[in-house]
Amino acid sequence: MKPFTYERAQSPAQAAAAVAQSPGAKFIAGGTNLLDLMKLQIEAPTHLVDVNGLALDKIEPTSEGGLRIGAMVRNADLAADERVRRDYGVLSRALLAGASGQLRNKATTAGNLLQRTRCPYFYDTDQPCNKRQPGSGCSAIGGVTRQHAVIGTSKACIATHPSDMAVAMRVLDAAVETVRPDGRTRVIPIADFHRLPGDTPHIETALERDELITSVTLPRPIGGTQIYRKVRDRASYAFALVSVAAIVQRDGSGRVALGGVAHRPWRVEAAEAAMPQGAKAVTAQLLAGAQPTHENAFKLPLAERALAAALVQARS
Ligand SMILES: Cc1cc2nc3c(=O)[nH]c(=O)nc-3n(C[C@H](O)[C@H](O)[C@H](O)COP(=O)(O)OP(=O)(O)OC[C@H]3O[C@@H](n4cnc5c(N)ncnc54)[C@H](O)[C@@H]3O)c2cc1C
Ligand code: SF4
Repeated sequence: MKPFTYERAQSPAQAAAAVAQSPGAKFIAGGTNLLDLMKLQIEAPTHLVDVNGLALDKIEPTSEGGLRIGAMVRNADLAADERVRRDYGVLSRALLAGASGQLRNKATTAGNLLQRTRCPYFYDTDQPCNKRQPGSGCSAIGGVTRQHAVIGTSKACIATHPSDMAVAMRVLDAAVETVRPDGRTRVIPIADFHRLPGDTPHIETALERDELITSVTLPRPIGGTQIYRKVRDRASYAFALVSVAAIVQRDGSGRVALGGVAHRPWRVEAAEAAMPQGAKAVTAQLLAGAQPTHENAFKLPLAERALAAALVQARS
């Protein structure tokens, strides 16, 4: 690991200002992703701004009838929150499908949204990777691609976003609240938060480098049966090959987002009109234009079957 300096931030705006002042600075929350990346020298921040002491660890009701989740709320606490379990079951289930108990005790809401891809070439510093080193090439294209994206890919990158929580946030229409070094705040709808790779796969979100996430808000509950199904190579401690976050209403209408298929949680609202017709009709639209490789084409029927199973579960 390369040497770095460290400070504990005193307020959200001061944390953002501290990162703004130092070009090599990064925020650190639970550290469960960033420290791994530092050990492998995939990321080498020169200064860490610790945001754990900023009192951003509360879950509170909003005036609109939703919930405001502080950026530092631990994944375990969020999954266990009574209001989340009752009104946003898909979120609780997605969180519990991720990582391990120990990791969830440490991992935060903001850090989870910002975790980096699990593409094996991104982790192998001997291999070209446009995300790790812009312009160096993509080793996955023409390489081993079983885990990779099938839709929304580009000639520069075919990585997936690994978060389970983010898929549930997308189906719930969450919004990300941030603060800048000068104290200005903004709200980014989750639909606009994660980017597709395009020509710049190293730019993964709509955040500025010195912009701190302060919270994530959930709108008023929409009810329905809320399901998260994660298909993976082993029963725990593995990232999704395909995951489905579904909210199904009594009349068969609903919402669906997929994980494990794209560079961001994948949702196409127009496809949801087909929910009453079943999984085949929905996935035909949701995954229209998919460009899988010969190694990951299995993700298309897998997504359809995972959604079909979720719909059966919702009706039972
Ligand atoms: C073995 C293992 C298995 C895992 N399995 C899964 C899984 O199955 N599913 C899953 O979803 N996840 C999984 N994870 C990932 C885990 O959920 C993430 O590592 C975790 O959520 C990251 O949160 P953190 O608080 O530790 O982030 P950190 O590592 O502290 O930070 C991550 C990034 O977010 C930035 N950041 C942190 N807080 C803020 C903020 N407030 N504002 C702006 N930027 C910020 C940091 O600068 C850094 O770039 C796994 C991790 C490991 C190590
Ligand atoms: S898919 Fe993306 S992360 Fe993986 S090697 Fe290619 S550029 Fe890097």
